[in-house]
Amino acid sequence: MSQIDFMNINGDELNLLIDKETIRSRIDELAKQIRKDHGDGTLSVLCVLNGAFVFAADLIRAYEGPCEITFVKLSSYQGTESTGTVKMAEKIPCNITGKDVLIVEDIVDTGLTMDYLLKIVKAQNPRSVKVATCFDKPSRRKINVPVDYVAFEIEDKFIVGYGLDYDGLYRNLPSIYTKNG
Ligand code: 5GP
Repeated sequence: MSQIDFMNINGDELNLLIDKETIRSRIDELAKQIRKDHGDGTLSVLCVLNGAFVFAADLIRAYEGPCEITFVKLSSYQGTESTGTVKMAEKIPCNITGKDVLIVEDIVDTGLTMDYLLKIVKAQNPRSVKVATCFDKPSRRKINVPVDYVAFEIEDKFIVGYGLDYDGLYRNLPSIYTKNG
């Protein structure tokens, strides 16, 4: 295995959960599935910042069809706890009316963020809306939200790496780690 299984960084204990090769091949599969379902029209990807930027970058490069991408900034977490309140920094910066939108999220946890975003997106009357998430924690759900594409379903553990942070750190790790301590 090419990556470190365990790291202790400033008291944060990180244990490898999903290595980068496994992530890469699963995302290739997911991109093929989305392409098959979507067909030849332009896919309008809406990437949820901050966490989904790495996943979205890999997903669109594995997607062999026309697509455009825009970014929306949302957050509900402080440290390892959901605040329960989703915040949106600004309006969706493009016109999605009549388009086939694929929302790309890093992780669906309580579902509050996705529920909030879906309402905003649907209010702009896109032709269709689908949701792709890199990670899904179904056991944590507070609101039932539709999730069309899931790369990995995980247990109720706080994860970092592959775009996901703990107080701003660890987004650059290419693999996924669980964080203790
Ligand atoms: P939800 O609104 O579904 O509870 O949470 C969605 C957001 O919470 C995600 O976009 C992500 O930013 C953050 N989040 C949820 N679980 C985790 C986790 O295990 N690790 C990290 N780093 N962020 C998480």
